[in-house]
Amino acid sequence: MEGKEQSRLRELPAVHKVLSWPNVQLWIEEFGHEDVVNSVQKVLDEWRRQILAGSDEPMSEKLLLARVKAVLTAYTSMHLRRVINATGTVLHTNLGRAPLADEALEAIISVARGYSNLEYDLTTGERGHRYEHIEALICELVGSEAALVVNNNAAAVFLMLNELTSGKKVVISRGELVEIGGSFRVSEVMRASGAELVEVGTTNKTHLRDYEQALQQGADLVLRVHTSNFRIIGFTEQPVLKELVALTHAYQLPFFEDLGSGSLIDFRQHGLGDEPTIRDSLAAGVDVVSFSGDKLLGGAQAGFLCGKKAFIDRLKKNQLARALRVDKLTLAAIEATLRLYRDEARAKTRIPTLRMLLSSAQSLQEAAEKLAVDMALSIGDRARCRVLATVSKVGGGALPQVDIPTYAVAVVPFAISPEQLLAALRNGNPAVVARVASDEVIFDLRTLLEGDIQDLLVAVRSAFDAIGTSSEARL
Ligand SMILES: *Cc1c(COP(=O)(O)O)cnc(C)c1O
Repeated sequence: MEGKEQSRLRELPAVHKVLSWPNVQLWIEEFGHEDVVNSVQKVLDEWRRQILAGSDEPMSEKLLLARVKAVLTAYTSMHLRRVINATGTVLHTNLGRAPLADEALEAIISVARGYSNLEYDLTTGERGHRYEHIEALICELVGSEAALVVNNNAAAVFLMLNELTSGKKVVISRGELVEIGGSFRVSEVMRASGAELVEVGTTNKTHLRDYEQALQQGADLVLRVHTSNFRIIGFTEQPVLKELVALTHAYQLPFFEDLGSGSLIDFRQHGLGDEPTIRDSLAAGVDVVSFSGDKLLGGAQAGFLCGKKAFIDRLKKNQLARALRVDKLTLAAIEATLRLYRDEARAKTRIPTLRMLLSSAQSLQEAAEKLAVDMALSIGDRARCRVLATVSKVGGGALPQVDIPTYAVAVVPFAISPEQLLAALRNGNPAVVARVASDEVIFDLRTLLEGDIQDLLVAVRSAFDAIGTSSEARL
């Protein structure tokens, strides 16, 4: 071994020495002896290996402390944790989609803390069914005969195809053979379910007569799939749902639909997109419709299947239903969320997804103006802040072509790049996820929840502080 490496190794302090430093003593009080010792050992081992590998990285007491603090923080923090969503995308799949209403959170806690009547009938004292808690409620809200809820909409579609299309000739438009996030391909799930695809029409146009030809040649059912975040714009055509269902029923065949997001309220009345509601689909005669619980509905992750009792009964008996079933926490959240929909005005104020989607540009502008002033005060001369009129997205594959006018605070950092600021924000606690456009870091007010603004101000200041300290320490 070379002398230089040996002398660098000798310069590394002993673990007990580091533990006696005042900062480290404070951490021991906060995090406990074990976690601090482990973190110090881990960092010293790391540095020893670097020295032996011939690294010339600077190593000072200050750097050691910064590194131990980082390791300690990561070690003692939850890996799955809160994130402030400043992206403006309301149903951000990577950020957990719909935040829950307070009523749903309370329902989860009350059911999770102790026992519940999950599968127990309190009237008879006998075994009950987990699906009974919400079946009548969702049927009342969408106007269906029967309903079943499973783990998510992918599971709902899978179950529907497995039970109802196996060994059948399924008519589907070429324009709807889409892949839905996370490589869920409708065509492949259908083939795996043992269905035979009868593709009709073209990618951009499918006419009623295309379906009719397929039905004349002997098909077993018709499937319609919402194309989610995929849109063909321009020269396109798709039959009116009601006419297509009527045609299918004229051949005495069933009609199933994967509606994707599916909404209980009519966003068209608020100038948002041109999506029909779940109720519209069922009113058009669709036999079974499936949709997500955590997209436009604004509840927990779940997949709903609503429609004719004869089909839903078969789905309930399918062996897969057991493997795809929802747990009690989800049921509690879903029931509490659905109850809010009994009064639409209440749903719009109590369910965060609806509240965010329907926030007026004017109220967001006022909030952005205030935030820009507070942010400028908080970060001082390290950046420039301004209010920016821009657009938010719905996300989650819902209403993909809709741009919702919004207001944001745009920050241009002076000494660092916007990407460096974004990275520091992601590493904070709570983490902040924002976006960069034209060298500005953009914080969209639409997706900030109650309590987020105060935490965002602290997070942005801490991010600037963190970058300042680490670049200082490297000098
Ligand atoms: C989102 C979506 C799915 C998957 O729903 P999850 O609840 O995420 O499993 C399936 N089909 C369509 C059309 C969708 O938009």
